[in-house]
This record gives sequence, structure tokens and C-alpha cells, in this order.
Amino acid sequence: MTHLQFLSEVRSEGRDRIERPGVYLTFDDGPNPRFTADILDVLAQHKVSATFFVIGAYALDQPKLIQRMVAEGHEVANHTMTHPDLSRCDPAEVEQEIFAASSAIRMANPQVCPRYMRAPYGMWTEEVLAVSARASLAAVHWTLDTRDWARPGVDAIIDTVLSSVRPGVIVLLHDGCPPEELSSSSDAALRDQTVSALSRLIPQLHERGFSIRSLPKPH
Ligand SMILES: [Zn+2]
Repeated sequence: MTHLQFLSEVRSEGRDRIERPGVYLTFDDGPNPRFTADILDVLAQHKVSATFFVIGAYALDQPKLIQRMVAEGHEVANHTMTHPDLSRCDPAEVEQEIFAASSAIRMANPQVCPRYMRAPYGMWTEEVLAVSARASLAAVHWTLDTRDWARPGVDAIIDTVLSSVRPGVIVLLHDGCPPEELSSSSDAALRDQTVSALSRLIPQLHERGFSIRSLPKPH
């Protein structure tokens, strides 16, 4: 089996000006009209930047949230147009999902040029990586999955990060919910635990000497 090449940990970026190692918070499946603003408030309160892997269809619905992400120094990245499992899509669909999402993000805010792509469910294939490269998107997976989407409790989300954090980790969190889960169960769409966990997690990461940043420029 071919080894698929994507970024799942930041190894090359150095320390910041005061020598703190980086931790990279990433939020998938937004922008969400109920929870993304709360997440942005917590990030702003602690003056940290993050990366948002947004769903293109949601970006078109919520351009103001995309504009706010950019204005507040966050990175806006591609998480496809409608969040399908790309490994089950034919090549034309893969192409459409990825290119349309980048266009949707640029439509929401013409200043943004998305630089990263994350496959829904982490389902990477050679085809997905090839199309991402053609769309000038670096493929980004994650190091630490908080499973916050399953609503395991605020403490569990925080413990998952603190028990495994190390320099360069990319942390997977969710500010929204994919379209197919919006209808299935009301609880599945709630991200209140993520918001609460974040407001306690950021100070604890700072106490441990980490600097929280958006993803570095792809090489
Ligand atoms: Zn997703």
C-alpha cells in the first residue's frame, strides 16, 4: 500500500520569539451560527490564533464569520464543499468538492486564499492528495483527536489534550457539525462542551509553556 503524504504534526517550525514550542488548534465543520462566534470570543480573549477547516456551503451561508476569522488573524482552510467521504466519491466529485470549497471561501472573503485542506473523516486517498496539490492546498491531518464531537464531557476533552500534548501537535476540535449530522440527532450538533473546554484548555497550555498558533506557511 502506498504511504499517503499529509501533515499530521508540525516538526519544522521553530520556537517563537520567547522560545515557546507551538501547539496548533484546528476547528472543523463550521462556520456554525451558534458556536463559531463563541469559539472566536474565547480565542480573542486569550489572544491566540487557530486554523478553521470550514465547509464551503456553510462559508457561503455565514460570510461574516469567515470575515471575522480573517480579521482576527485566524487561518481559514478547506474542508470540502459538502463534507462527503471523498474515498467514496468519483474523481470528478473529488475535484468539484475541493475546488468549489476554495471558491466559496474566497467568495465569503476575497482576501483569503486557502492554503490547507483536510479531508472529511480524515479519509485521504491518492486522488484527494493529487487534487489538493492541484488546488495549491497542503494536506493537513491531525495529531490529537479530542473526539469533542461525541460530547465526552468538558474534562475528557481537556484531559485528552493535556495527557498527550507535546511540541508541534495539531489538535482536532469542532466548531460546527457536518450537514448529515444536523438532522440525525439534536445533541450531535451541540458544541457547547468544546467552547467550555477551550476556555480552560488555553490557559493550561500557556502554563505548560506552549504557544498556541495557526498552522505555519506550507513549504
Ligand atoms: Zn469534518
